[in-house]
Amino acid sequence: MSDRELEARFGARNYAPLPVTIVRGEGVYLWDDRGRRYLDMMGAYSAVSFGHCHPRLVEALTAQARRLDTISRAYFSDRLGPFLARACELTGMDVALPMNSGAEAVETALKAARKWAYKVKGVPADRAEIIAAEGNFHGRTIAITGFSSVAQYRDGFGPFAPGFKLVRYGDAAALAAAITPNTAAFLVEPVQGEGGIVVPPQGYLAEVARICRANHVLLLADEVQCGLGRTGKLLACEHDGVAPDGLMLGKALGGGLLPVSLFLARREVMDVFKPGDHGSTFGGNPIAAAVGLAALDTLMEEGLVERAARLGAHLLRRLRAIDSPLIAEVRGLGLFAGVELHAQMASASAVARRLIEAGVLTKDTHRNTIRLAPPLIIDEDQIDWAVGRLAATLDRVASEDPPVEAPASA
Ligand code: PLP
Repeated sequence: MSDRELEARFGARNYAPLPVTIVRGEGVYLWDDRGRRYLDMMGAYSAVSFGHCHPRLVEALTAQARRLDTISRAYFSDRLGPFLARACELTGMDVALPMNSGAEAVETALKAARKWAYKVKGVPADRAEIIAAEGNFHGRTIAITGFSSVAQYRDGFGPFAPGFKLVRYGDAAALAAAITPNTAAFLVEPVQGEGGIVVPPQGYLAEVARICRANHVLLLADEVQCGLGRTGKLLACEHDGVAPDGLMLGKALGGGLLPVSLFLARREVMDVFKPGDHGSTFGGNPIAAAVGLAALDTLMEEGLVERAARLGAHLLRRLRAIDSPLIAEVRGLGLFAGVELHAQMASASAVARRLIEAGVLTKDTHRNTIRLAPPLIIDEDQIDWAVGRLAATLDRVASEDPPVEAPASA
């Protein structure tokens, strides 16, 4: 059997990969098993901000792996402290708790918020509520999918944890109306990623922060996808001048090499955790900490945040200049862009498939949107080339019959 047949035969069918087998990566490029080169405009759902196999990060990983691997958190390591200190220094947070996946960082935030509500705010036992936004994506655990507004993510997985409710994304008045004395926190993505690269109205987050403060409600910013320079600021919250009470980072924090996530918070929030309340065997292990620290240092020393701002503006300008009847809207901030197609005219998943033939890797997401989240090291010529390929592909699709394929799958 071929590699693909083996994966299809022995792998669960919880993904539907595009028909290409990747065997090598370097910088912004990926190569398939036939030696064809592709420009990676997807960046592993925003996890590959530094480009593939960045030499400094590979060196941090391999040097640490040779010296010390996993020891669990039963002991101190000489790697964790410096990583957490740097993460707190850069984000302005007081304390950090290391986990692995983004979903685990979000679960950590939910647990912290509930315990804070009982211990600090004085919410009666088991009555704490957490408000999230419609269109959210925070991961795939039972608790998190329980408050997803995507029917497929919930279908067949109930019963779900109580204590969550949803308000319209981008609507601060809806949040104000939903808050009760039992509200512990508002959990929000400053830019919704999987939801379709949705940028809220300017001032939304600032207003949300004001409402949370006025009601003694924690603002929890999930920057697993939009953080660490992706939108042209270190944190997407900074676009609105907001400092959240709790912050989740992941994806790019592991340099594309391994899963590294953090829940960071103000001390008052994090101090609700006592030894034994929460943990993870691999969270904060020496290799993860070494790579995480190298990722943060690389982000700052290579000026990737400013680069994302500059090249992101260029990408959005170029996308908005594409003259295609198929495009309903171009959305984005920094190197985080979505091209929504008219659903009755073209399917974003079919276009992503066609783009493979054109040498560009992307993936559709919700709202029939083609997502573009390339490594932050991409240059202007590479962006121009990819946008040219996208424009040509849209032209070709527009000249054909309307597609039969159903639009948008995550
Ligand atoms: N939060 C956000 C905003 C995400 O986009 C994602 C993943 O796409 C997650 C959390 C979950 O991260 P992971 O897949 O590492 O669990």
